Amino acid sequence: MKTDLLQQAFDPSAFRARGHQLVDLLAVYLEELEHSPDTAPVMPDRLPDELHQKYKVGCGNLEDLFHSVLQDSMHIHHPGYAGHQVSPSIPLAALAGLLSDFLNNGMGVYEMGPAANAVEREVIFRVATQFGFSSKAGGFLTSGGTLANLTALLTARSIKSQTQIWKDGHSAPLALLVSEQAHYCVDRAIRIMGWGEKGIIKVPVDPDFRMRTDLLPYYLNQAQEEGRQVIAVVGSACTTATGSFDNLEAIGTFCQEHNLWFHVDGAHGAAVCYSSKYRDLVKGIHLADSVTMDFHKMLLTPAITTALIYKNDQYTYATFQQQAAYLWQNQEAHQWYNPAKRTFECTKLMMGLKPYVLLNEYGSDLFDEYVTRVLDRTASFARIVEEDAVMELALEPQCNILCFRFANPNLPEKSANRINAAIRERVVRKGEFYLVETVLNGTHWLRCTFTNPFFDINRFKGLVRAIKQEADQVLDHYLSAPTELNE
Ligand SMILES: *Cc1c(COP(=O)(O)O)cnc(C)c1O
Repeated sequence: MKTDLLQQAFDPSAFRARGHQLVDLLAVYLEELEHSPDTAPVMPDRLPDELHQKYKVGCGNLEDLFHSVLQDSMHIHHPGYAGHQVSPSIPLAALAGLLSDFLNNGMGVYEMGPAANAVEREVIFRVATQFGFSSKAGGFLTSGGTLANLTALLTARSIKSQTQIWKDGHSAPLALLVSEQAHYCVDRAIRIMGWGEKGIIKVPVDPDFRMRTDLLPYYLNQAQEEGRQVIAVVGSACTTATGSFDNLEAIGTFCQEHNLWFHVDGAHGAAVCYSSKYRDLVKGIHLADSVTMDFHKMLLTPAITTALIYKNDQYTYATFQQQAAYLWQNQEAHQWYNPAKRTFECTKLMMGLKPYVLLNEYGSDLFDEYVTRVLDRTASFARIVEEDAVMELALEPQCNILCFRFANPNLPEKSANRINAAIRERVVRKGEFYLVETVLNGTHWLRCTFTNPFFDINRFKGLVRAIKQEADQVLDHYLSAPTELNE
């Protein structure tokens, strides 16, 4: 054993042993999830303070610590996981993550990440081609859909506003149009940019929660009459609550007609462009000026890996500049290999390696197979809900998100919300499944995102059975205390 602590910490043979140990642990974990998933709960049932106390005291040696972290984490690889929209990471992509964590190339400038920058450039081009963009397209990877959306809107502001905001700050009030069902981060981006509450104009949705694109002219006109310069429309592909895809073709045409920036928030659903069966859901995506797509939502890649693609790579250089015109003329300034010029990050993770190894090893067929499978399955699960007398479907699923509820026709409507919330809590506590909930027009729905490719039809039938079982319990409980139901 080396005595110097730093030498010990960098010791290659200790690293080798511990690396093998960790990989073995994770391989056993995967085997258990494959062969006997129901022996462990999807979600650990531990209270926050209780867990904090555990880690405050410490969990012993490294092996114990790794075991503890495994045990106390949400098990996204568990086939009963159907909660929020993060996908189980493919082990190979996680290994790529180890390589990039180890190398720690900050990649803000070329010298600090030659391979990382080259790989990222290639990932961006492949995604852009998948969207149907021309060779002029470009972009970069960045730290999450939230940051990508903000960055894209800053580019839009730089290009479309009539004043030199970077130099002079805001003078005219700006605004954009977006579906009322859009992810909250669009609202947050607007407020960060200082456009205030009126800077976000929320367009109503149709019964399938798609933006009412027929209302775009009305809202544009109304904003202009109030003296606001509308500079962009954001399309959702898809929405977070219900997985609804806005009509990108209609929005794209509208933006072209009115000289507006068209941004697509495809954090979750732009991934359908990889599915030969489902890619029409994002028909018109190539009309966008910018598109956000998370690899960690529906492309089996560890978080955080987000692509921000621009129809025209040159636009990316305008985001953090005051004189875009200078940049257009000065091609030498466009050093794609020095990405910090156009990203929020200075030091950035070598995130491109994760999707790149997947493409390298399995090709884009892997994404096609996965996206097609989870969308097919979600549609078949909807049929099971529809055929069940005591279950109700919120809407026909368009993506891998399913909203439904327990709805015994004998139940008074006003109790249904509380009952479904109670059912979800009990199902999740039992540990066999993890699902979440959402509220649509005042009605409470159970919400599943099927990100695990091994969540099959039998498992879904099992979930429906579990829901009914818990519903019986909940109803028994409430029948003995009916006032609780009517509060
Ligand atoms: C998840 C999501 C986001 C936020 O992306 P992060 O990567 O979590 O920051 C934004 N928009 C939509 C539609 C999403 O589904």
